[in-house]
Amino acid sequence: MTSHIPTPLTVAIIGGGAAGTLATVILAKLSNIGRITLLDRDGRFGRGLAYSAKEKWHRINVPAFKMGGVGADDQEAFVDWLAANNHVTGPDYSTSFVPRFVYGDFLCAQLADVEAGGRLDKRHDSALGVERCGASYRVATVSGDVIEADLVFLCIGNHPPSGFAGVEPSLRSISNVWAAGALDPIGADDRVLVIGTGATAVDVVIDLVHRGVRSEITMVSRRGLLPQVDVVTPVDPDPVTVWPVRTVRGLFRSLREDIRRKAAAGIPWQTAIDSFRLQTKAFWTGFSQAEQARFSRHMRSIWLAHRHRLAPDVAERLARWQRDGQVRVIPGRILSAAATSSGYDLTIRARGNKTIALAPNWVLNCTGPEERYDRLDDPLVKSLLATGRVRPGPQGLGLDVDPGCRLIDASGHPQPGFFAIGPATRGTFWEVTSATNIRQQLVGVAETLVKPASRDS
Ligand SMILES: Cc1cc2nc3c(=O)[nH]c(=O)nc-3n(C[C@H](O)[C@H](O)[C@H](O)COP(=O)(O)OP(=O)(O)OC[C@H]3O[C@@H](n4cnc5c(N)ncnc54)[C@H](O)[C@@H]3O)c2cc1C
Repeated sequence: MTSHIPTPLTVAIIGGGAAGTLATVILAKLSNIGRITLLDRDGRFGRGLAYSAKEKWHRINVPAFKMGGVGADDQEAFVDWLAANNHVTGPDYSTSFVPRFVYGDFLCAQLADVEAGGRLDKRHDSALGVERCGASYRVATVSGDVIEADLVFLCIGNHPPSGFAGVEPSLRSISNVWAAGALDPIGADDRVLVIGTGATAVDVVIDLVHRGVRSEITMVSRRGLLPQVDVVTPVDPDPVTVWPVRTVRGLFRSLREDIRRKAAAGIPWQTAIDSFRLQTKAFWTGFSQAEQARFSRHMRSIWLAHRHRLAPDVAERLARWQRDGQVRVIPGRILSAAATSSGYDLTIRARGNKTIALAPNWVLNCTGPEERYDRLDDPLVKSLLATGRVRPGPQGLGLDVDPGCRLIDASGHPQPGFFAIGPATRGTFWEVTSATNIRQQLVGVAETLVKPASRDS
C-alpha cells in the first residue's frame, strides 16, 4: 500500500505591508503550506505604508497591548517583544502609544524568523496581473517574472485619494501626501490648507510643524471633526456581543445606550467603542444596501473620529497649536478654488453660511485612502477589474469577497485559492483596517486552508 502525502501548497502574497507580513507569518505555521513568495512594490516588507513612518511622533493609535501578536493565541506577543527589546517608553510600556516604526520593527522581526526557516522568498517587485491556470494561478510582475502559486493573497492595502473635491490639481497641490518626499517643497513661511481633519490630516499637520512651517495651517472638512483623544481603556467587563439592529438609527441608539450604561459604572466611552468595533462586520453585513449607503453618507466621519483616536500627548500638542493660532480647523466645504502663481485663491462655505477667503500656498489632500477601487489608477487593480477576475465590493467599496475572503469574479463566483485581505475587503466587511482586524481575518482564512475541501468548494 502506498501512502499519499499531499504536496504542500505554494503561496504568492501581493503586498508586504502589515497584512502581507501577518499573512506570511500565519500561513508559514500551517503544515500544508510550502514555499511563500512575498512581493512588495516598494520593498517595504514588514512595514507597508503605516509602519514605514520614520518619526517618533507618528504613533500607533492604540496602546501597545491592543496591537496583539501575530496569531489567534498570542495576544501578548507585541508587548512581550517590546519588553524583550527594551522599548520601555513609560511606566508601563504596554500602555504606551509607541512610534509606528517600532511596530514595523516587530513585524520585520517576525518576517525574519520565517525567512530563517528557508521557505520565504521576498521580492521587491510589483504584481501586474493574476491569471487562473488550471487549479492554480500565475502572477505576472513588472520585472517580467511569472510566479506560479496554488494560493494568491491580495494584500495591497491603502491607496492614495484619487482626486480633490472641488480643487483642480496644480503645481501647488499635493494629492498623495504619503509619497516619499511629498512635503519637501513646502517652505517654512508657506501657508498650507489641509483638506481633511482625520488621522492622515493630523499626521501631516504634525509633520509640517516639525519641519518648521511657521505660517497658519488651516484644516477643513465638512464637519471639522478631529479624531477624539484616546485613553488607556480597561478591558470591557461587559461587552455587548449581539447587535440586533438593522438600521443606522437603531445601531447608534444601541451604542449610545451602551456608552451611557458604561459611563454610569465609571467606564470611559472609548471602551464601549472598542468593543463595538469588533462587531462592525456583523452590523455592516446585517444592513440592507440602503442602510449601508446611509451609514457611509451620514455617519462615516462621526464613526471614524471616535474609532481612530489620537495618543493623548499628540492630541495635546494639536490642541496647543490651535490655541496658539497656528492651526485652525474650519467645518465647511470648498466653494471655489483658482490656481495662482503662488498657490490658490480659495473660498470656503463655513458652518453658519459664512464665506471665508483663503490664499494658501499649498493645498494638501488628506481625505484618507481612496475606497472605490474602480477609481484607482493602479495597474494591478485595473487589470483585475478589466479581465473580470474581480469586481467592486458592495457600495462600490474595495473588491467583492465572500465571507471566507475569496475574491468574487465578475460573474459572481468566488475563486478558490484567491483571497483579499485587509482594506480591499471593506465593501463586504466595512472595517478591516487595524492590525487586530487584519489578523482576525487571516486567522479565519488559515482555518479554512487546513481543511483540504476548502480550496475546491
Ligand atoms: C497613516 C496610517 C496610520 C495607521 N496607523 C495605524 C495604527 O496605529 N494601528 C493600527 O492598527 N492600524 C493603523 N493603520 C491602519 C493600517 O491600514 C493597518 O494597520 C495596516 O497597516 C494595513 O496594512 P496593509 O498591508 O493592508 O496595507 P499597506 O500598509 O498599505 O501595505 C500594502 C503594501 O502592498 C504593496 N503593493 C500594493 N500594490 C502592489 C502590487 N501590485 N504589487 C506588489 N506590492 C503591492 C504596497 O507597496 C504596500 O507596501 C494606519 C493606516 C495608515 C494609512
